[in-house]
Amino acid sequence: MRTLITGGAGFLGSHLCDRLITEGHDVICMDNLITGDMDNIAHLIGNQQFTYINHDVTEYIYVAGELDNILHFASPASPIDYLELPIQTLKVGSLGTHKALGLAKAKGARFLLASTSEVYGDPLVHPQPEEYFGNVSPIGPRGVYDEAKRFAEALTMAYHRYHGVDTRIVRIFNTYGPRMRSNDGRVVPAFLSQALRGEGLTVFGDGSQTRSFCYVSDLIEGIYRLLLSEEHEPVNVGNPYEMTILEFAQKVQEIANVELQVVTKPLPQDDPKIRQPDITKAKEILDWSPKVPLEEGIRETLHYFKIKLKL
Ligand code: UDP
Repeated sequence: MRTLITGGAGFLGSHLCDRLITEGHDVICMDNLITGDMDNIAHLIGNQQFTYINHDVTEYIYVAGELDNILHFASPASPIDYLELPIQTLKVGSLGTHKALGLAKAKGARFLLASTSEVYGDPLVHPQPEEYFGNVSPIGPRGVYDEAKRFAEALTMAYHRYHGVDTRIVRIFNTYGPRMRSNDGRVVPAFLSQALRGEGLTVFGDGSQTRSFCYVSDLIEGIYRLLLSEEHEPVNVGNPYEMTILEFAQKVQEIANVELQVVTKPLPQDDPKIRQPDITKAKEILDWSPKVPLEEGIRETLHYFKIKLKL
């Protein structure tokens, strides 16, 4: 198997590089390092099965030779990243997905799109099943990500139906673990780096909004199973263990064994009030469910940040 991973130097992309190399694939990792980081793939440089190409996938993608799979993971993925990079976020979800699908068609490769729970927006159905169409503001600040991913899903289904490309769509819910950027603004790296530095935990709004956090190894297993499956329609992959952000702040303090203040910050516009994946479909067709308890995943991630931040 020869597999291209766009965004391969990012948080999820680099874990996928590792997993596919372990499964015996030759992996081509493509990234322009806007939010990716060579540190995430440094251990793979020099590996015979691994090639890195610096490229912006919104431009024509050239890869010599045959390809069996394309995993399209290139995109800014944290709210502060896509607020800072709104045009790039829209371009990589639209033009980048178009280029990657065109390559899949030309090579006869299987194509897997990294989609997101953000396609459900600020959901009015709870938990969110794949059939739910979502509640997204197209013109709000998060719309650049949400609408790019919704367009990417539409384009993927069009290439499947019209060109017969063998496609998969994973809707990824909040995922955490080693190789997240400590300063990417998402709640897990924010709270863990604050806990390690003994700083107050920045809770946005009253902290009553909910999220459900999945450890990265569970997510990668779900994605790998989806790649091997025959399912063309979107599949949610995430951990249904839901909690409020205030509860999460409490758990982080317990696990890190620290007592910190909660520092309240304004709630960002269009911040979803609730989020929990309905994973009935992933259980049925992939025989997948998450295994890593929050406490264990947070401990692993704390360990990573401690080394990364030299604390
Ligand atoms: N959040 C927070 N403090 C932070 C960062 C985020 O309270 O320092 C909140 C944010 O408002 C949201 C939740 O935590 O309700 C998850 O935010 P994140 O950026 O991790 O991902 P999202 O699920 O919103 O894409």
